[in-house]
Amino acid sequence: MSNLDIPKRSPLSSELQLIHSEILECTKCELHKGRTKAVPGEGPDDAKIMFVGEGPGQNEDEQGRPFVGAAGKFLTELLESIGLKRSDVFITNIVKCRPPNNRAPRKSEIETCNQYLQSQIRLINPRIVCALGTPAITTLMGEEYSASRFHGKPLTKGKVTMLPMYHPAAALYDASLKETLLHDFKILKQLLEKEETLNPSTPRSAEPSSAKQTLEKWV
Ligand code: URA
Repeated sequence: MSNLDIPKRSPLSSELQLIHSEILECTKCELHKGRTKAVPGEGPDDAKIMFVGEGPGQNEDEQGRPFVGAAGKFLTELLESIGLKRSDVFITNIVKCRPPNNRAPRKSEIETCNQYLQSQIRLINPRIVCALGTPAITTLMGEEYSASRFHGKPLTKGKVTMLPMYHPAAALYDASLKETLLHDFKILKQLLEKEETLNPSTPRSAEPSSAKQTLEKWV
């Protein structure tokens, strides 16, 4: 089994499944015209940690799964460096369809797709959201944030902690960022340990829906 395979697990909650079915058929922005497959995201529907990247690339577009190329392989290594498996976390992107020639997603495309991301966050109700790269960071936290200034600096509001990070793909072009990412994943591990101490093994799904929050309040 390659390190990108995910083991079988219980199906997604019906509400999340519904959102994912909508994403697979979405035609709300121009990106749907060039896609092979939309990429809703994957992982446990009560994951404590959620990763949000920029958008599907060629491999993701072909397979309909997030982070399955070189950046995904590095993301898996980063997770393993702190004792986590890919299947422990939920992984998605700010846009669910591949931008042509891997160009950056446009503001209007990000805004249109944001309803899906916000629904995923509300339903999964993670404790920690790792925003990978500046486009994901600004989408979730606001225009004043960036990977270079805020990576590895957690910000907590209510029950959710945002952890901005460099995108794993950045380390494929600039090797010095590999150490930075490994360091920032150690911060993620500390946050998770702190969270486990404060809320030992509370399944997110067991909480009253009133406790669930969206990240719209960040921006
Ligand atoms: N880069 C991203 O931002 N997302 C993916 O799913 C793959 C590569």
